[in-house]
Amino acid sequence: MTTSILNADLHCHSVVSDGTLTPEALAARAKANGVELWALTDHDEVGGQLRAAAAARELGLRYLTGVEISVTFAGETVHIVGLGFDATDTRMTDGLHQTRGGRGQRAREMADQLAKVGIADAYEGALRFVGNPELISRTHFARFLVESGVCKDTGEVFRRFLTEGKPGYVPHRWANLQQAIQWITDGGGVAVIAHPGRYRFTANEQYALFSEFKAHGGQGVEVVTGSHSTSEYLTYADMAIEFGLAASRGSDFHSPDESHTDLGALPYLPGKLTPVWELLADRIQ
Ligand code: AMP
Ligand code: MN
Ligand code: MN
Ligand code: MN
Repeated sequence: MTTSILNADLHCHSVVSDGTLTPEALAARAKANGVELWALTDHDEVGGQLRAAAAARELGLRYLTGVEISVTFAGETVHIVGLGFDATDTRMTDGLHQTRGGRGQRAREMADQLAKVGIADAYEGALRFVGNPELISRTHFARFLVESGVCKDTGEVFRRFLTEGKPGYVPHRWANLQQAIQWITDGGGVAVIAHPGRYRFTANEQYALFSEFKAHGGQGVEVVTGSHSTSEYLTYADMAIEFGLAASRGSDFHSPDESHTDLGALPYLPGKLTPVWELLADRIQ
């Protein structure tokens, strides 16, 4: 595989984190949508990897292991996608276990804040949407706020609640950048900056993120993602070249009811970039 003309989808979520489909259902949907190389990248969790790889194998769909690690950088949450690492390596699994640790307490504090603005029992409400008790996330609260009629969709939830300055926002300290990259590269994988267009960084902070990421052994950046506009594809294609990073492509699909980009439904990577899968040829299952 030496071409950028490949329907690779290397970013999506299952019920093991904050998606609504099982790893098996995602594999089937990816295959049906024409995906040729797939990775399941649950938040801070590799518990779905064996299932995803097995389902992909059954379907004749090429697979890379995946994860999306929450990192705190310059006071903001940044997501680092790992691809092609050994998902059984205890340096990765122990690190993720630690990162997940604060989520329960954070969720209770989120619910306390929501109670103060008149939204009762949000913790219990969010829990009903949780597939993995170790991974209660803002997405689960968002689904509860939609179900209970407070908001019409999850987009409205994140405009009115759960984000900085809004009720239900609880700042949290995640892993640090260097650690997350190390967990991925220790296991033979490639670290990728997820959806760089989503962070509210100044130009200097963004430059610092890319520089430090590269200095710690990061090798890729998402260019074509469901989280980017068409103009951001061009911005981050240029950044990939400027920083000597390979490019990744992924929908960030969470749910048929919520996600605007379906699995595999993205433009191809610009031809001038090195696709991240060229660095991972020997890790494809
Ligand atoms: P957490 O890891 O608990 O902070 O939750 C983060 C998750 O919330 C992300 O992975 C998204 O799935 C979801 N999310 C964050 N911001 C938004 C947004 N503006 N619209 C929709 N979903 C969002
Ligand atoms: Mn998510
Ligand atoms: Mn993300
Ligand atoms: Mn994601």
